[in-house]
Amino acid sequence: MNRRKLLKSFASLPFIGSLLNSDFVYSKHNLESNLSSTQKDLYKDLGVRTFINCAGTYTALTGSLMPKEVTDAITFGTSQYVELDELQDRVGERIAELLGCEYATVSSGCFGAMSIGTAGVMSGMDNDKVTQLPNSKGMKNEVILQDSHFMGYCQAITNVGAKLIKIKSSKELEKSINSKTAMLWFLNSGNDRGEIKWQEFVDLGKKYNIPTFIDCAADVPPVENLFKFTKMGFDLVAFSGGKGLRGPQSAGLLLGKRKLIEAARLHTPPRGVTIGRGMKVNKEEVLGMLTALEIYLKKDHEKEWKMWEGQIKMISDSAKSVDGVQSEIFVPKYANHVPSLRIYWDTKKIKIYPNQLRHELRVGHPSIETTGDNESVGITTWMMEPGQERTVARRIREILQSATSGYEGSKNVDSDWMGYMKKEKA
Ligand SMILES: *Cc1c(COP(=O)(O)O)cnc(C)c1O
Repeated sequence: MNRRKLLKSFASLPFIGSLLNSDFVYSKHNLESNLSSTQKDLYKDLGVRTFINCAGTYTALTGSLMPKEVTDAITFGTSQYVELDELQDRVGERIAELLGCEYATVSSGCFGAMSIGTAGVMSGMDNDKVTQLPNSKGMKNEVILQDSHFMGYCQAITNVGAKLIKIKSSKELEKSINSKTAMLWFLNSGNDRGEIKWQEFVDLGKKYNIPTFIDCAADVPPVENLFKFTKMGFDLVAFSGGKGLRGPQSAGLLLGKRKLIEAARLHTPPRGVTIGRGMKVNKEEVLGMLTALEIYLKKDHEKEWKMWEGQIKMISDSAKSVDGVQSEIFVPKYANHVPSLRIYWDTKKIKIYPNQLRHELRVGHPSIETTGDNESVGITTWMMEPGQERTVARRIREILQSATSGYEGSKNVDSDWMGYMKKEKA
């Protein structure tokens, strides 16, 4: 069966009609909740593909969708002028109150928080040092981290003129400390890989009076993480705004010690002779981030979790109803800590490779994005609109079922949106 015939046979199946209808309802619901009735479909006008996001909070796929309360706050923000610093001051205090920490600021993502946090630690409140960066001559400019915590986003630290000093053990860490040591940096999702765990790391910072920074970019849920690490004693804690918090994708949170956050703020707009001038957060994003946080704190996390579990199980059961399909349901311990699904199958029985299935999902209507490779297909439901799981479950089953009698679709489907990650790692 060639691809056109394959699609034709889908179209002739009776449930396709209800499938299209139900999708219409979901997208209509979206339009009604987030857009005015007169709003035209800008993506459609541009010919830009939209899709059901079963992949997760990837920048390449534009992160998350903001709840209506957040887009309302953003729209409200456009209605008046304010002084940017005054707004950041008040919002910083409000966030600190909500999260029970000393101070906070809205940053340009977690990456931005890492950059301005590091820059602030190096400069302190010295304006000459602020303008001098990324030339860090004459400043403390060494950031110590565990080897196993290193990842691509550490570029945020070196971008502002700091040097990474990689160590393996607490003994090695203590030996590396000298008059140039600016900060100790920790990757939350690396906790189990590293020899030095959270509390010991914090204690080492306190022992030598060196600020500690923890990157928690993708670490809500659980909601407790928003409180846990400032309480534990980390001096700076950073979260992405556009991942689990579902705020603006270009925003983030930097929490912690007032003195350090005030120094970080010296690097941000409106000040212009700074390394952080391009990391602007506008008033709308500041309000959107605050609102996203407020909503996140109020939501019924247990109920949401149960919904995700149900959705994952439904998609898993639907796929497994095709003979030869297997699945694994799991929750990553750190980062993207949500119910997740991996589907794989015997490609002798079902003659389609996982990347080909992902391709078919992508080119179908509605388009569906997943993660995966030629071994398995990865699915999460936390970034989907409720209801879309039924469409996804049906599409996956249909394609797998059809492929039991062969697949003559696209053979070379290696290059998708995940390609840039492979390139960056190489
Ligand atoms: C996503 C991520 C970042 C970057 O965060 P942004 O909010 O996109 O700037 C940094 N560190 C880790 C571990 C991440 O997962």
